[in-house]
Amino acid sequence: MSGWTKKEIVERLREPEPASLFAEAAAVRLAVHGRCVHLRALLEIGNICRANCLYCGLRRCNASLERYSLDADTIVETAFRAVKGGFRTVVMQAGEDGGKRPDFMRDIVASIRNFTDAAITLSFGEWPEDAYGMWRQAGADRYLLRFETSNRQLYSRLRPGRTLGQRLSCLEFLRKSGYQVGTGFMVGLPGQTVDDLAQDLLLLHALDPAMAGIGPYIPHPRTPLAGKYGFRKGPDWREDPVLKDCEAADMSLRCLAMARIMNPFLHLPATTALEVALDNGYGRGLSAGANVLMVDVTPSRYNRAYDIYPGREPGKDEDPAELWKRCSSALSALGYAVSDSRGDGKKAAPSLVPESAGTGNYPCSCSIADCG
Ligand code: SAH
Ligand code: SF4
Repeated sequence: MSGWTKKEIVERLREPEPASLFAEAAAVRLAVHGRCVHLRALLEIGNICRANCLYCGLRRCNASLERYSLDADTIVETAFRAVKGGFRTVVMQAGEDGGKRPDFMRDIVASIRNFTDAAITLSFGEWPEDAYGMWRQAGADRYLLRFETSNRQLYSRLRPGRTLGQRLSCLEFLRKSGYQVGTGFMVGLPGQTVDDLAQDLLLLHALDPAMAGIGPYIPHPRTPLAGKYGFRKGPDWREDPVLKDCEAADMSLRCLAMARIMNPFLHLPATTALEVALDNGYGRGLSAGANVLMVDVTPSRYNRAYDIYPGREPGKDEDPAELWKRCSSALSALGYAVSDSRGDGKKAAPSLVPESAGTGNYPCSCSIADCG
């Protein structure tokens, strides 16, 4: 039980002036995670996808996309450079490539595990339980699988042939296999209401994950959802007089802050989609309670084709070590410090949970002086 009712969450999300919500989230973040930010190296290993999600540019029916799949050597070598450059987590993400056998990924995970104790995170969508188990056995630590929306009807409409129940079963398989599980949802989907978002936050809390990605939906012109497709044009909250000017990115910040307040220990990235949709999205995400940044280390000629949504800054083939340094200086200018720990999921031992927002104290596990 979260102790929060849907009505209370809706009230907080609908606050005409969200500054106090953000301040409360920032206080919880400071108390539990200090000024540390965990950097995760993100490697987009392929854009081939058998699914046909109505919101995503990688969907099967987007014929205009040039497809790629990185070979094993490129993946392992890029992961190696990322770890050498300072990253303590490597995240590999891809479309659901039905042509790839799960043992391909098992061998890659094992090769990476061979040279580093850095965390290995996977995000490849829905696979059978034994594939998840095989990758875990090979050395993967974490798996990211957003539930996307807790509204079952909306989910089935947006993900043809898939159900929310299947997605939640996958999350259960992952947990049983011993992964640190990451999940999350999109904000601003056509037809989404503030009630839906409150339900998303309650589901997130009930799932008790180690991390959660919460970011705005960004329309992609090559997808049916960006056109009419029988949906209303925007999220339903735009009909609410208090929220009529609240864009998906603004609402994402509110949801991020609520997620922080409701789940003090959760690892919460300021998502790339937030940065795309909002000026200073990373900085504002951190101020609203986020404590993680994903840094794209994909070779630039592929990174352009990982076109989930438009507006992402094209990669410049910067060495991961340079990227790490650049992020580190940008963060210290904002008063944050890059954590040198892996940033594993913190299990909320009851005695360590802050008694109330901002008053508890939980020392960060990194070795940076004064971090917490
Ligand atoms: N194929 C895997 C991982 C890649 S997609 C999967 O689906 O789980 C990663 C995430 O991108 C998805 O979970 C979804 O939440 C997000 N995403 C997809 N299309 C998007 C869009 N148009 N705007 C914002 N986020 C999007
Ligand atoms: Fe494929 Fe994931 Fe995009 Fe859906 S969201 S089309 S599963 S890459």
